[in-house]
Amino acid sequence: MIMDGAKTPSTAANLVLLGPPGAGKGTQARMLEDAFGLVQLSTGDLLRAAVTAGTEAGLQAKAVMEAGDLVSDEIVIAILRDRLAEPDCANGVILDGFPRTTVQAEALDGLMADLGAGIRAAISLEVDDAAMVTRISGRFTCAGCGEGYHDTFKAPAVEGVCDKCGGTEMTRRADDNAETVESRLRAYHAQTAPLIDYYDARGVLARVDAMAEIDAVAQELNKIVRQAVV
Ligand code: AMP
Repeated sequence: MIMDGAKTPSTAANLVLLGPPGAGKGTQARMLEDAFGLVQLSTGDLLRAAVTAGTEAGLQAKAVMEAGDLVSDEIVIAILRDRLAEPDCANGVILDGFPRTTVQAEALDGLMADLGAGIRAAISLEVDDAAMVTRISGRFTCAGCGEGYHDTFKAPAVEGVCDKCGGTEMTRRADDNAETVESRLRAYHAQTAPLIDYYDARGVLARVDAMAEIDAVAQELNKIVRQAVV
C-alpha cells in the first residue's frame, strides 16, 4: 500500500556548484565525483548531448547556447528532472551549471522535496571576471571520457593524449570564444549570481576562492563536502 504523503527521507548528499563560466565547476565536479561517489550533473553537457542528438529540446537550445544566453527554464528543468530520476542519482548529485535562475532554484527545491531529499551545500566558486576569458579560451576536452584540459593550466602529460583514458581526440566547445564569454558572464551576473543569496538565506552556502590553483581549490571543496555529506 502506498502511504499518501509519507516519504522516506533520502540520505542522498546533493550539492550545487555556483560560479561564472570558467570558474572551474566542471573540473572540480569531476574530482568530487571520484572522491565521494557522487554523480556530476551538468545541464550544459545534457544540453550539448540534446543538440548533438537533434532532439526537440536540442533544436530549440542550439542558437541560444551559441549566443551565450540562457536556455529557457522550461527546457532545462525538464531535462534535469528526467536525468535526476535515473537510478545512479540516488546516492547524491553534484549540480554543475544548474540552477542558473531563481525559477530553476525553486523548481529544484520542488524536485528535491519529491525525492525526500534536499541541497546539503551550495558552493560558490569565486573568481575575477577579468581572468575568465583566458581560462575559457584555452580549454578543451577529451572526446572519449570528457576529461577537461587547459592549454596553460592543465595540459595533458603527453601532448594530444588524454591522461585518463589515452584517447587522442580532443574537442573545443563552440561557445568557448571571447565574444560569447562576454554574454555568458553577463547572464551569470544578471540571473545566476542572485542565487548566492538564495542559498545563503537557507544556511547552506559556502564560498571558495577559485582563483587559487586547481588542487588547492579541490582541497577546500573536499573539506566542505566531507562536512556536508555526513
Ligand atoms: P555550461 O556548459 O554550463 O557552460 O553551459 C553552456 C550553455 O548551456 C550556457 O551558456 C547556456 O546557454 C546553456 N545552459 C546550461 N545550463 C543551463 C541552465 N541551467 N539554464 C539555462 N541555460 C543553461
